[in-house]
Amino acid sequence: MKILDGQLVSRATKDELKIKVAQLVTEGKKIPHLAAVLVGNNGASETYVGAKVKSCEEIGFKSTLVRLEENISENKLLSVIEDLNNDPDIDGILVQLPLPKHISDEKVINAIHPSKDVDGFHPINVGKMVQGLDTFIPATPYGIMLMLEYYKINTKGLHAVVIGRSNIVGRPMSILLSRSGQPGNCTVTLTHSHTRNLKELCESADIIVAALGIPEFVKGDMVKDGAIVIDVGITRVPDPSKKSGFALKGDVDFAEVSPKCSFITPVPGGVGPMTIAALMKNTFKACVDKN
Ligand code: NAD
Repeated sequence: MKILDGQLVSRATKDELKIKVAQLVTEGKKIPHLAAVLVGNNGASETYVGAKVKSCEEIGFKSTLVRLEENISENKLLSVIEDLNNDPDIDGILVQLPLPKHISDEKVINAIHPSKDVDGFHPINVGKMVQGLDTFIPATPYGIMLMLEYYKINTKGLHAVVIGRSNIVGRPMSILLSRSGQPGNCTVTLTHSHTRNLKELCESADIIVAALGIPEFVKGDMVKDGAIVIDVGITRVPDPSKKSGFALKGDVDFAEVSPKCSFITPVPGGVGPMTIAALMKNTFKACVDKN
């Protein structure tokens, strides 16, 4: 069993970007600038946004954190996005999800200009991704693809079972793995909460991508020997032994599953850091595509 080390690959990806940014500076060109919008003060969202801003600093990007009150109106948030769309210095805009219940995720995502949509959630960018055109790929699935590429894992012809069909992880992941290319060329089964024979499907999978948000859902008896297991889940579970009061759990029972795998991502230190690295790549792309 080999660990797919998200920290390592993320570091390598960010180091590459750092060199490219230094090159932009040398050439007197514009430096990528990411605007992150955080509504309210959800603890996990604070952590994710903080990590994204910190990564910008490490690489040499500019970043702007726009903090807004939990009770901001939908219209006010849309006008903040419009201002960011119209600001020529801002290359990429991300709105940290989830948003408060009174605000429509869909309206907000659709308000971001597709050329600044570094999360790749805008319908125009999703459509391009489906067609295999050049675009922003949603950061988590993109990060997983980068990791498969880094470890030179040949996915051609493999059966991939993706658990979870959200627009931000499961569905785009299923599309990317089924697309022509490497990584890709998989036969993909996209599963969800209504799937009846999930265990049997998983047993036949060469690749399992678990993105359902239920800690340690994937057990050893669901995984065949030699499978590649990508654990996207991050759930905070109470743990009084930790200073923070919680531990992070993946969707895979690592102790049971890892001995059977050829490759597996740990939680933390797997998909999480790769999501940030992929977001940084999208932000760089947003900047250089403009020039
Ligand atoms: P979501 O809640 O939007 O979607 C969950 C999906 O899982 C749904 O499609 C649902 O049908 C499916 N599902 C639920 N129960 C199921 C079951 N018993 N069997 C099969 N499918 C089932 O979640 P999401 O936003 O896609 O996130 C999933 C997990 O990934 C969460 O733990 C989230 O925190 C984590 N996540 C991690 C990263 C990262 O960077 N590592 C990024 C995004 C999300």
